[in-house]
Amino acid sequence: MDQLDFYNDLKFCHHCDQYVRYLMSMEHSYCVACGNKVRLFSESDWSAFNETMANKRPKGGRPRKKNAAESA
Ligand SMILES: [Zn+2]
Repeated sequence: MDQLDFYNDLKFCHHCDQYVRYLMSMEHSYCVACGNKVRLFSESDWSAFNETMANKRPKGGRPRKKNAAESA
């Protein structure tokens, strides 16, 4: 569970090329070190995060647009 705290406190700054502390504004977050916008994850971590979310996404339940792709 330490990972969650890590991601809550830090965001990824491409300028610094590392996870940094950040300042939050209305729409974006900014690196405290260089002032550039930061992201929640680095590129690689973002991919991993999305894959994790896709795997965890419950299947079944309500039918979605998936039918359009399968009907061909
Ligand atoms: Zn920075």
